[in-house]
Amino acid sequence: MTKKLDATVFHNGFLNSFDFVLTDCDGVLWNRNEAIPGAKETINALQDMGKTVIFVTNNSSKSRYEYHRKCEVLGFKSSVDRIFPTSYCVAVYLKSIDFKKKVYVLGSSGIAGELHSAGIPFLPVGPDPMPETEYWYNWVAKELKLDSEVGAVVVGFDQHVSYPKLVKTVSYLKDPNCVYIATNIDEQFQTDLKHLVIPGTGAFIRAVEAVSGRTPIVLGKPAKFLYDCIKYQYPDLDPSKGIIIGDRLSTDILLGRSTGLRTLLVLTGVSDLNEVERCSNSNCENKQMMVPDYYLPSLADLGRLMGV
Ligand code: PLP
Ligand code: CA
Repeated sequence: MTKKLDATVFHNGFLNSFDFVLTDCDGVLWNRNEAIPGAKETINALQDMGKTVIFVTNNSSKSRYEYHRKCEVLGFKSSVDRIFPTSYCVAVYLKSIDFKKKVYVLGSSGIAGELHSAGIPFLPVGPDPMPETEYWYNWVAKELKLDSEVGAVVVGFDQHVSYPKLVKTVSYLKDPNCVYIATNIDEQFQTDLKHLVIPGTGAFIRAVEAVSGRTPIVLGKPAKFLYDCIKYQYPDLDPSKGIIIGDRLSTDILLGRSTGLRTLLVLTGVSDLNEVERCSNSNCENKQMMVPDYYLPSLADLGRLMGV
């Protein structure tokens, strides 16, 4: 049963019940490039009172360094070692399997930046369009070369997804030994462009799966790998002393519930209270795992309770 985090809950030892916070980014701290009102004051106040605040995001398009810069610009106190985007998880995963070959990335500079920092070789990322030609097949036959040193394919968010990139992705994956990694599987994400549907990385994953039959190793929420990365870097974190703040039941809240963290939904992003109710009333165990402990309209409301 989800409770509103009101003054009664708050004054009943809420702040003392955790010493670290995992906060989702888009929909909790900011929407695209704009900070959500009151979010930075709350996050900074939590840090000032000694809570360890860890930033988590499924968005692979930036590296930790780029997110650190974004936090600085928007006024959130942060440090690179407390930011966990899925771009970084890719590098951690490949290190964890002692990967020694090259990586083909259907994704953007965030993943490239993290692979570079980790010293893992990869093929260049960026636009890879097909020229306008009626003889597209001849172009593919002549121009599309595979690199025999590639041993892994990473699919993340790529605003330059193209036919040549899809051909290369599924061709590398023909080799069953080629490691296949997905940063996340969100099929679409929320923006303020209400008239448009914005496909996410999960849409690319479905296309690749339809052709290759391969299912990827998923790193982002609700998969536990992202949490494992955090645990690896902060082995002393005790889940019973942690809380995750998120805006999406199927990613943030599910990850929190499955790792034993307390869960707080804010209503500034994807999920609303109707969805919470549908999950609560569902007989499906997975849906039940998406029901948060608490909710608040926004992080600003937590700040108000804290007297910020
Ligand atoms: N992936 C992409 C490409 C995005 O742009 C976003 C949000 O903007 C997300 C994933 C979800 O990010 P988060 O986990 O911070 O909500
Ligand atoms: Ca989010």
